[in-house]
This record gives sequence, structure tokens and C-alpha cells, in this order.
Amino acid sequence: MSKFIFITGGVVSSLGKGLTSASLGLLLRSRGLRLRMLKMDPYINVDPGTMNPFQHGEVYVTDDGAEADLDLGHYERFVGQPMSKASNITTGAIYSEVIRKERRGEFLGATVQVVPHITDAIKESFLRLESPDVDVILIELGGTVGDIEGLPFMEALRQFALERAREDVLYIHMTLIPYLQASGEIKTKPTQHSVQKLREIGIQPDMLICRTTQPLTESAKSKIALFCNVRTEHVFDEKDVDFSIYEVPILLHEQRVDEIACKHLGLPLNELDLSEWQAMLEKVKHPSGSVEIAVVGKYTSLTDSYKSIYEALAHGGIANDVKVKLRRIEAEEVTRESAEKILDGVGGLLIPGGFGRRGSEGKMEAIRWARENQVPFLGICYGLQCAVVEYARNVCGVADAITAEWFDEEGIGDLSKAFVALMDSQQKVMAKGGTMRLGEYACGLVKNTKARAAYNAEIVRERHRHRYEVNPGMVKTLQKHGLVISGTNPDSRLVEIIELADHPWFVATQAHPEFKSRPVQAHPLFQAFISAALEYKA
Ligand code: GLN
Repeated sequence: MSKFIFITGGVVSSLGKGLTSASLGLLLRSRGLRLRMLKMDPYINVDPGTMNPFQHGEVYVTDDGAEADLDLGHYERFVGQPMSKASNITTGAIYSEVIRKERRGEFLGATVQVVPHITDAIKESFLRLESPDVDVILIELGGTVGDIEGLPFMEALRQFALERAREDVLYIHMTLIPYLQASGEIKTKPTQHSVQKLREIGIQPDMLICRTTQPLTESAKSKIALFCNVRTEHVFDEKDVDFSIYEVPILLHEQRVDEIACKHLGLPLNELDLSEWQAMLEKVKHPSGSVEIAVVGKYTSLTDSYKSIYEALAHGGIANDVKVKLRRIEAEEVTRESAEKILDGVGGLLIPGGFGRRGSEGKMEAIRWARENQVPFLGICYGLQCAVVEYARNVCGVADAITAEWFDEEGIGDLSKAFVALMDSQQKVMAKGGTMRLGEYACGLVKNTKARAAYNAEIVRERHRHRYEVNPGMVKTLQKHGLVISGTNPDSRLVEIIELADHPWFVATQAHPEFKSRPVQAHPLFQAFISAALEYKA
């Protein structure tokens, strides 16, 4: 039977529970344990797919096509194993499931209630991850203790330990220890209250991880331990890191968090190998140079909106032994006149995924600037679509070329000029509707292209999240004017990757390669893009 670790949070939100969970996941995996992870989000949305990236950060996509919380991105980047649809649940998903069952009469006339029906459904999602080849299941609960939405999840957590042997379950609670500048002291009271709240619900945490700016003294730890009813050696501090979030696992390991967790759960204390991770951190701390990359998007003011993109760029930097500096630019600010001034000096341009018309003209102006000035360019999803429309307009001479997305949304343009459009199953342009292409799709790479050189493979698989496609009816026109289709889907023949031959490095992909990039293994396209940016600046 698998063991279970539950991570909850208190005092404030945004404590970095996701990073801490991911870090602990890495440590357990590095000890040779077979791990699965789950993120529970108490909001009512069935998944974050419809949520505004401004509010909730990016939507992460798994191989099997789940639109998931961005914490799954941390999990994958740290732990290095793919998550799935089973790795993220929300209140909305749980209620939908219970209501569906109720409609089918599966509750045999019972009154359907939060306890036991909702809590049962939550516990079932834990058990779904259990399997003979899984040693430990790490489950993070979003939000803070005391949130109304979180209560059924807390209740399920409480019940779970009652049904299992107590030593098969480990509760970790994360809190914040504020430091009062005026009196020069740290304050443990909020943590005490947070744990009280947890104990009211019936959960006694086994370990506390406290976010601090100052390291916790032994006496502070014993005070917290006493008031929170945990052992002193089970109180840990997680200081703000200096260089990189990738230091967190090391910070936790130095305090033996992983060892103590394993001992509590009776898991074998296999030797731990962090050499790959340490080597990566060394590169982060001592880069041999830097390069600046412009990211022109719509949500550049909130870093979480393009989380995986920024991470993947950093990974591309690590692989090239340089630090990547970001120049975040609001797409609407870029015009034909302003492009040169705004973008001058960068080593490369990245256009991330996006939805909707706003900012599109700016993105295309930025792309035009990079194309004409031989500046390395990487287009991601909508970034590819904008590159195609820009090429149609400014190189193929179709001045009114559009993506059908603008027509569908705002009635802009003429569908017969749609270089990017919705495709039906016969690859014919459709007027409306269309389902999202989600999750992994294959891409065959053409010989002697930059894409093929970067990937060094014939067939690759990447994750998708989009509705619109390069219109197959327009491909000939684009090719005739020099656009290279370097990757296509082997089944549908839809365009996956485009590039330019007479440009140092101009590549755009319909997929989201950023989701698969890892600090210890940069995604090939990001690695090649940064390498091209360095060459351009050399
Ligand atoms: N809006 C575009 C589409 O739906 C691109 C989506 C994206 O960039 N993820 O096809």
C-alpha cells in the first residue's frame, strides 16, 4: 500500500506550497521512491481552463490533455515525471462527479451530502493514485486553512488518516513566520492560530514548514513546537532563497525534511543522489554571461501568466551556461514606429501563446522586426499563428490576411483570407465552434531544418492547447514565398512547426514546448533559441 503525505497551508496564501511540494517530491524521487502527486484546488471551476491568466496564472497542460493548475508545472519541472488528469482536482470537478452519479440514481435514494458523499469522492481521488508500484503519494491542498471552500477537503484529509493506519499518513502544514522590523523579532502567533484552526478540524500536523526571512532559532522552534503540539525536530524553516527557486530542495534536505518524512512513514531510507540537481544549481549561480530576451505578450505584468515560458527560457540559459534576462513587453505598446526602440538590443524575441485579438497587431510588428532584422525568434502557439499572418501580409502580399479567430470574435476581416482557421475533421475550414486540440500530438520533422537540428529526432511529441490551425489551403502560398514547414502532424498533416531558411533562427511551433522543459534538461527548442540569441549578440 502507498503512503500519503498531505501538505496544507496557513496564515497567508502564496506561501510557495507548490514549490515546497515539488521540492519534497524531488527529494523523495531522488531517494529512489516511486511517487505520484495531486494538487487539490478548492475553487468551483471544474478546471482552470476558462480562468483568466491574469487572475490565476498560466493554465498548465499535461500529456493526456488536462488543463491544470500551474503547480503541476512545478511538480514536473522538479520531479521530472509527467503528471496527468488524475493529478489535479477541484471542487467543481468533485461536485460534477457526485451530481452525475446522483442523476444516474447511484446513491440509491440517499440524501446526497457534503459528508459523506463529497468527502468520499475526494478520498476516491486519492485512492485512484494508489497502486502497488507507487511508494508515496504527495497531495497538496490549495488555499489556506479556514477557507470556506477548503473545508470539505480538510474533512476528507481528516477522515483519511482515521481509515488508514496513522503511520501511513503524514500531515505537513506550511505557515508564515513574520519578522517585525520595529521590534526586531519574529512572531509565532499566526502559526499557532493556524495550527489551532487545523486541530479544530481534527488534523494534528506532524511537521511544520515555516516560511521566514530569518532562520528560526532553536528556542523559536521549541516554542512553536510546544504551542502547536509537534516535536521540535519536526519544525523546519524555509527561508527566502537568494538565487533561484531551485535551491528550495537543497534547503529542505539540509534540514533533513525528506529523511524525517521517510522515517515517519516507514519508507526505506535509500541513498539520495542530488548530483544532477546540484550541478544545475552551480550553473545558475555562476553563469558565464547573460543574454536578454524580449517576451511580447498580453499578461506580462503578472509573472505567473507565462510561468512555464519564463522557466523554459531560464533552462535554455542554463544549458548554454548563461543567465537569461527578460524584457517583458506589453504587446499593445509595439507599433511599426515603436518596435525598433522597444526591442533594440535584445538577443531574441519570444511570442508566447495567447487568445483573442487584443495585442495581435503589436505581436506581428515585433515579429516583423525580428524577421527583417535577422533577430532570433521563437513563436509559441499563438506566436506561430501571428508569425504566419505577418508573413502572409508582409511577404506573400496578402495585406488583409487574418486568423479566423478575429473574425469569429469580432467579425474582423474576410474568412477567405484566413491563413489560420478552424478545421473540421476533413481539414476543411469551418465557420464556428471547433474543439480545443489538447494534450500530446506527434510531429514529424523535416530533414535539414533548424527544428530537426534542435530536436535531433525524426518524430517528437508535444503538448497542445489551441483551436485554430494553419489553414492547409494556404500552405502552398506560404511555401511559395519561402516559408518552410519543418514539422507536421503525421496523421492530420496539420502544420506543427514553421521556420525561415534565410534567417539565422526563426522558428515557431503550434505546440507548447515550454511545458516539457526542465532545469536539468532544457527543452531542445529553448536551448537552440538561446544559443542562437548568443550567436546573434556575439
Ligand atoms: N488562440 C489560439 C487558438 O486557439 C492560440 C492558442 C494558444 O496560443 N494557446 O488556436
